[in-house]
Amino acid sequence: AKAAAIIDGKAVAADITARVAAGTAELVAAGALPPGLAVVLVGEDAASQVYVGAKGKKASELGFHSVQHTLPVDTSQADLLALVATLNRDPAIHGILVQLPLPAHIDTTAVIEAIEPAKDVDGFHPINVGRLAIGERDRALVSCTPAGCLVLIKRVLGDNLSGKDALVIGRSNIVGKPMAQLLLQESCTVTIAHSRSRDLPALAARADILVAAVGRPEMVRGDWIKPGAVVIDVGMNRIPAPERGAGKTRLVGDVAYAEAAAHASAITPVPGGVGPMTIAMLMANTLVAACRAAGRPAPT
Ligand code: NDP
Repeated sequence: AKAAAIIDGKAVAADITARVAAGTAELVAAGALPPGLAVVLVGEDAASQVYVGAKGKKASELGFHSVQHTLPVDTSQADLLALVATLNRDPAIHGILVQLPLPAHIDTTAVIEAIEPAKDVDGFHPINVGRLAIGERDRALVSCTPAGCLVLIKRVLGDNLSGKDALVIGRSNIVGKPMAQLLLQESCTVTIAHSRSRDLPALAARADILVAAVGRPEMVRGDWIKPGAVVIDVGMNRIPAPERGAGKTRLVGDVAYAEAAAHASAITPVPGGVGPMTIAMLMANTLVAACRAAGRPAPT
């Protein structure tokens, strides 16, 4: 088989962010406010601090109004909800992102539901989830990781995915379910697999598009892949890498990359595939929210 094309998520993400920067300049030139993104972090989780820092930095680079609220780990739910309410009312803020996971004493669902849906740039609010489900994507904000996966799929297959068989492995609210909804919206025939699914290899054998969002290192094997399929690997798993020295680790996906690349027509690497797209789509969502707030057409 011909070697698969490597889908360069870093390059596509750079292209998306360049468009967002241009759209931002256009919006401001038209006299509207620049997109405003507020990122809220509760506590000092090291990984969350890195994510939040990267989001704020990217927002500033693109010409956004970017603010970060860092609250102590023992912040009460009432205080967090009060901050969300303030941001909901602030006309300079178009996107509100509360970094997850929240400390255990805070009800995550209550916080997500407190965010004004029009400012919910993570796309987690039930109103946005519902709008996607009823086919009103143009009025919704869609979860960033699956939205980024769809962009990558279209870069390979073009805009018309109608009739393709798609398999999504994983049914989380953040990745698997919205991914399946997006592909359904594109008129794919969608199968959603999860931990109770039987015979994943047989399901994969039919899939023209396979999205793995499981969190199990290299679970999807090369001989599962339909020849010529497009494989999108969302997984980010850190595994021991003794070959790099004692105590060293490396990042792998949910797909056994080298094996799968021998069967697929195109595949995302880990790292450098889906990962860079997530933050780019967050910026795109914030621009969309700002355009809608200004009554201007949102870029597609
Ligand atoms: P979750 O743990 O929330 O969901 C995992 C899903 O995989 C569940 O639906 C689960 O099924 C299913 N699953 C678990 N084991 C199996 C199995 N043996 N066979 C089939 N399905 C199985 O994870 P997320 O959706 O949040 O994330 C998935 C992966 O993507 C993780 O590696 C995460 O790190 C990565 N990720 C990467 C992002 C990026 O920017 N690149 C962003 C978000 C996530 P069930 O529902 O039955 O339990």
